[in-house]
Amino acid sequence: MTRPSLIAIDGAAASGKSTVGCILARRLGYMYFDTGVMYRAVTWATLERGIPTDDEAAVTSLAESLVIEVTPPTQDDDRQYTVYADGQDVTWAIRQPAVDAAVSQISAYPGVRQALTLQQRRIAASGHMVMVGRDIGTVVLPAADLKLYIQASVEERARRRYQECQARGEDVTYQEVLASMRRRDQIDSQRAHAPLRVARDAVIIDTDGLGIEEVLARIEPMVKNQSES
Ligand code: C5P
Repeated sequence: MTRPSLIAIDGAAASGKSTVGCILARRLGYMYFDTGVMYRAVTWATLERGIPTDDEAAVTSLAESLVIEVTPPTQDDDRQYTVYADGQDVTWAIRQPAVDAAVSQISAYPGVRQALTLQQRRIAASGHMVMVGRDIGTVVLPAADLKLYIQASVEERARRRYQECQARGEDVTYQEVLASMRRRDQIDSQRAHAPLRVARDAVIIDTDGLGIEEVLARIEPMVKNQSES
C-alpha cells in the first residue's frame, strides 16, 4: 500500500489541528489546505458588504460567487498562507473577533456548505493533501486514507486563541475568547448539516498538555505504518 494520499484532520476551534496539519504536510511534501479560511472569507465578505448575517439567501448567493484563493505566504508576517477574497488579501482580516462571532452562524447554512464543499473536493482531487476542518472526514472526503480528530479542552483552546489574539495586539479578554469559543463549539456541533463530530474511522488525538512535536510524534507512525503495510 502506498502512503495515505488524502489526510483529513478535523477538530474544534484552536484544537491545534491547523498547526499540526501544516507541519505534517510540509514533512510529507503534501499540499496543506485549511477549509476554515473559506467559511471565514465568506463571513468577512458578508460583514464587509453590510449583508445581514441572518439573510440566508443573500449569504448563500455570496458564497456561490465569492472567489476565494489560497496561495503560499506572500508576506513574511507569520502567516501560513495568503487568503484572497475576490482578489483582496484578507489573511488577517478573517481572524478578527467580529468574524469569529459570526462564522458559525454562516457556516450552518446548507447552501453555503454545499458551495464550499464542492470547491474543497475539487481542491483535494489531485491527492497528496492534508485537509483540515470540521467535516472533512465525515462529509468532504469520506474516503480519505487517514482521518484524524484533534481534541483539546475548551479552556486550553481558549488559552491558545487568547495568546494568538494578544500577539496580534487585539483588545480582547480571556473570558471573552472563552465565551466566544463555547458559543462556536455549540453551534458547530449542533447544526443540522455536517456538524462537528468524529468520523467512525477517525483516530482521536487528545492534545491537552501536549506540545506540537509530541502530537506529531503520535501521528507520524500512522502515516509510516500505512505506507509500509
Ligand atoms: O477552523 P476555524 O476556526 O478557522 O473555522 C472557522 C469556522 O468555520 C468554524 O467555527 C466553523 O463554523 C466553520 N467551519 C466549518 N467547516 C469546516 C471548517 C470550518 O463549518 N470544514
